[in-house]
Amino acid sequence: MTGTSLDRHVQRYAQRTSGMRASAIRALFAVANRPEVVSLAGGMPYLRSLPLESLAAEAAALVAQDGLVALQYGSGQGIVELREQICQVMSLEGIKAHPDDVMVTVGSQMALDLTTRIFIDPGDVILAEAPSYVGALGTFHSYQAQVVHVAMDDDGLIPAALVAAIDACRTAGRRVKLLYTIPNFHNPAGVTLADARRAEIAEICRTAGIAVLEDNPYGLLGFDDRTRRAIRADDAENVMYLGSFSKTFAPGLRVGWVLAPHAVREKLVLANEAATLNPPVFNQMLISRYLATFDWQSQIKAYRHTYAERRDTMLAALTDLMPEGTTWTSPDGGFYVWVTLPEGFDASAMLPRAVTARVAYVPGTAFYADGLGTRQLRLSYCFPTPDRITEGIRRLAGVIAGELDVMRTFGTSPLRAVGGPSSPAPDTA
Ligand code: PMP
Repeated sequence: MTGTSLDRHVQRYAQRTSGMRASAIRALFAVANRPEVVSLAGGMPYLRSLPLESLAAEAAALVAQDGLVALQYGSGQGIVELREQICQVMSLEGIKAHPDDVMVTVGSQMALDLTTRIFIDPGDVILAEAPSYVGALGTFHSYQAQVVHVAMDDDGLIPAALVAAIDACRTAGRRVKLLYTIPNFHNPAGVTLADARRAEIAEICRTAGIAVLEDNPYGLLGFDDRTRRAIRADDAENVMYLGSFSKTFAPGLRVGWVLAPHAVREKLVLANEAATLNPPVFNQMLISRYLATFDWQSQIKAYRHTYAERRDTMLAALTDLMPEGTTWTSPDGGFYVWVTLPEGFDASAMLPRAVTARVAYVPGTAFYADGLGTRQLRLSYCFPTPDRITEGIRRLAGVIAGELDVMRTFGTSPLRAVGGPSSPAPDTA
């Protein structure tokens, strides 16, 4: 496309596209995906533990036996059998729900999009943890929401900080509509909301007239085999719960869901129909068969076992190899460790050096709407084997040590920041 032709299109773009920014690190990820690079960047599940041959037989049987339904258009809300099974899955987290209040979506990413679409006008505030999931921030920006971050500690979102953020927004005359929270095994922070805080946070939001968007794709991936009670379990009226089969089964099927208060369900279905007509029937039926005929809870246990071993490997390597002054979180489940580099570091500026040293991560600024997170980075341990994880941390530690030497010599880092990316690169899921 020529410059003038591009300009003509740019002039026609809707205002909301100004919130859609390409990640400044996207180009680098093309290099980071080369086999010689240890990628600690992506949140890709380790699918090798799936029973692929049995799944292939199940998919073939689905086409042969139910192809006329599976390959046809379907309902905008999703197939009822799967919605019933989703209610059983959620009951593990203490949720009592009716299948009528569940809507199947194209991954929980689509559920994020649809809930934002029906609640947010340009300029409305969404409260979100500091840091927060990069894909959610991208969605929020695309609807011109203003994201206000709320502090976390090792026990997750801090209730007093939530109250203070709501008060500050109100005083400034801003309209707060949603709290977006990832209570379990946070992406990217790796922390989990303490049980004792859950009811308190729900109460704060209810009292303030703010709906809660509880995003829980990792809830069943706790390494202590304890399933935490969902916030939604104790508040059916004010919480929209997002779930997904991406991390507990397979992300390629793109099946997630939203459990919404009954009053909201209707609008969500209309939004889903407007966006996709209906979620893919074949994929829903395949998952439904999988849940009915496979020992899916043992599969989740196998995932947990794999990820726990990799988490242990990563934490041990960090302890052994990281230069002094670097700190990190210790996740009890999920995929991610959140690292804070010593004073003066810029993780975005350091990334090209890391990729040259054949290791990749996601710089912390991607997970903030306001440019914070310069000294931080996200590491994931879900995909690389333990050996590769140790090697990746060794390479990263070498890069950090090299930066420290430069800083000691010049007094400060000579590297410039690369700016604040806000939409997900392909490798940042
Ligand atoms: N929420 C969080 C916190 C995530 O980490 C992800 C994927 N990385 C998603 C939502 C989207 O997942 P999916 O669309 O595959 O269900």
